[in-house]
Amino acid sequence: MGDQVFCPNCGGEKIRSFPNNSPVADFFCTSCNEEYELKSQKSSFGRKVLDGSFKTKCERLAANNNPNLFLLNYDLKERSVVNFLVVPKHFFVRDIIAERKPLAAAARRAGWIGSHILLDRIPKSGKIFIVRAGLPEPKESVLEKWNRTLFLRDQGLEARGWLLEVMKCVESIGRLESQLDDVYAFEDRLARLYPGNQNVRPKIRQQLQFLRDRGYLDFVSRGYYRLRSDR
Ligand SMILES: [Zn+2]
Repeated sequence: MGDQVFCPNCGGEKIRSFPNNSPVADFFCTSCNEEYELKSQKSSFGRKVLDGSFKTKCERLAANNNPNLFLLNYDLKERSVVNFLVVPKHFFVRDIIAERKPLAAAARRAGWIGSHILLDRIPKSGKIFIVRAGLPEPKESVLEKWNRTLFLRDQGLEARGWLLEVMKCVESIGRLESQLDDVYAFEDRLARLYPGNQNVRPKIRQQLQFLRDRGYLDFVSRGYYRLRSDR
């Protein structure tokens, strides 16, 4: 990490590790102080990834000081990196952290509760590849993708939850250009997620306007919008 990885937040080349077993995170950038946690494994990452204490995760989320997450997938035989991606910390909401069963009474840390991070609940724009299928992505493209969603940091947890859900809807349509009706098709799903909200359609429009104002997508004409594409 120290030798080869740049900081996706500032582009700086100085990522250093915290002392071993630091409860805070694994690495930090000496230029911008951004903090990173690293999870690595041989098999590619599926729908979820094992993470540390559920309680700690939730506390850090509530305090808004959770680290960004690097995910490294390697090939031991070839001694090479297959995939390396980063999930920016502003994509973390309570909804993507699942509580595991407490450890059994016979375990050394009986009763301890771990967590899973549900990768499939994170929008595509929250999984930024630095190496994909063995090939490094251009640094400018990584920094640009990181910057594109930084506006989420200014939002509270609840506001962020709505924005992330609407981002997922827009992305799952699978086209760069779509229309309001395509997003309205997710009305039932959003209503189930937010049973307290009686005005899902206006809420959807409000989120789309917000995403337009922050440059995540463009309105091309009334009811039609376009996702900003990767450069
Ligand atoms: Zn940095």
